[in-house]
Amino acid sequence: MTATRVLVLNSGSSSVKYQLLDMRDSARLAVGLVERIGEETSRLKHTPLTGGGAESREREEPIADHEAALKAVAEELAADGLGLDSPELAAIGHRVVHGGLRFSAPTVVTDEVLAEIERLVPVAPLHNPANITGIRTAQALRPDLPQVAVFDTAFHTTMPESAARYAIDVKTADEHRVRRYGFHGTSHAYVSRETAKLLGKAPEDVNVIVLHLGNGASASAVRGGRCVDTSMGLTPLEGLVMGTRSGDLDPAVIFHLARVGGMSVDEIDVLLNKKSGLIGLCGDNDMREIRRRVDEGDQEAALAFEIYIHRLKKYIGAYYAVLGRVDAVVFTAGVGENAAPVREAAVAGLEELGLAVDGALNSVRSDEARLISPEYARVAVAVVPTDEELEIANQTYALVGNPSAP
Ligand code: ADP
Repeated sequence: MTATRVLVLNSGSSSVKYQLLDMRDSARLAVGLVERIGEETSRLKHTPLTGGGAESREREEPIADHEAALKAVAEELAADGLGLDSPELAAIGHRVVHGGLRFSAPTVVTDEVLAEIERLVPVAPLHNPANITGIRTAQALRPDLPQVAVFDTAFHTTMPESAARYAIDVKTADEHRVRRYGFHGTSHAYVSRETAKLLGKAPEDVNVIVLHLGNGASASAVRGGRCVDTSMGLTPLEGLVMGTRSGDLDPAVIFHLARVGGMSVDEIDVLLNKKSGLIGLCGDNDMREIRRRVDEGDQEAALAFEIYIHRLKKYIGAYYAVLGRVDAVVFTAGVGENAAPVREAAVAGLEELGLAVDGALNSVRSDEARLISPEYARVAVAVVPTDEELEIANQTYALVGNPSAP
C-alpha cells in the first residue's frame, strides 16, 4: 500500500481546522472545522469531497478538549472510508505559529523539537500552546506516524539582521528574544512562488511584494524567492491595519494608556489585538460591510478605509525601496483576493513607480491566479489565491516522502 495522504491540522486555542489531501494530485479528500472546543456549544463541520457531491455533516455536542475534537474528526473521516488508521496516511502536518530562530524549515517532530516549541511559548502565548496540544493529541492517536511541524515564521528567517532587529538595547533584546520574526510565512512562501509561475519565471529571478490581507494582514518583500523584510514582528500585532489589530503605533501609546489612562497591560493587550484596527475605527472588521457602508456615504467607514489604505501604501513604498527593483505586487487572502476597491486604492497614484491597475481586469471575480495590471505597466500587479493547507501538505510530504513506497 502506498501512503500518499497527508492530514493537515491547524489547532487554535478553541478550534481545529483540518484537511485531508491525496498528494498524488493534491486533491482534497475532506475538509472540516471543530469550533468552540471546551464549551457546551461545540460544533464540528465535516465535508467529504470524494465521490462528487460535497454534502457537509454537522455535529453539535459538547467537545471537551482537543483530544475529544480529534477523535470526533477521526470518526467522521472513518465514516467516509478515510480513517486515520489507514495505511494510506503518510504523515500529519501541523501548522505551528512560532518557530523562533531555530526552525527555518519544516521539521519532523521529536521530543526535543516539541520541547523547543514549548520554550517559545513566552513569545507566542496565544498560539504555540494550542499547536503543541494538537501535536500531542495526534501523536497519541497515531504514535507510529511522522508528525511534521510547519512554522509560520520559517519563511522569514532569511531576513537580514538589519530588518529583523529592533533598535533597542541588544542585551535586553537577546535576553528576552525580542526581534522581528514575521508570520503568515507559509502563505508568503506559496504566493511568492505562484507569482513567479504566473510571470513565467523562476522564483530566483523575481522580486515580489506580497500583500496578505485577511482578517490578520501582513506584507513581505521577497527577493529571488527569499524573504528580506516583513511587516509583522515579535508578534502578529505589528505592521498593517488589520481586522481587529492596530498594526504599527508609537510604543509610547502603551505607556500613555497605562500612566494616564490607568489601563493595565492586559487591558491594553486586548485593546490593541482585539478592539483596534478596522473594528476599532468603525465598528466593523469585515471589508464587505465596510465597503457597503462607504458606498452609502458613511463617514466613519470611509475614514477607516482610508487609514487602512494609507498604511498599505506606505508598506508598498517601503518595500519598493527595500527591494530596489520590483517585478510584481501581489494581493492575497480574503480581502486581497476579493476586494477590488482595496486593490485599486492601494495602487492608485503610484504610476511613477510603474504600478497601475486595469479597472476591467481588477473587477473580474475568479479563483485563479491572474494579472490585473494593464499591459503597459512596468510592474505586474496580480491576485494570487493563497493555499496554506496545500503548502503545509506539500512541505510535509516532501519531508517524509513516501515511507512505504516500493
Ligand atoms: P483569516 O485571517 O481569518 O484567515 P481570511 O483570509 O479568510 O482571514 O479573510 C477574511 C476576511 O476577508 C473577512 O474578514 C473579510 O473582510 C474579507 N473578505 C472575504 N470576502 C470578501 C469580499 N467578497 N469582499 C471583501 N472582503 C472580503
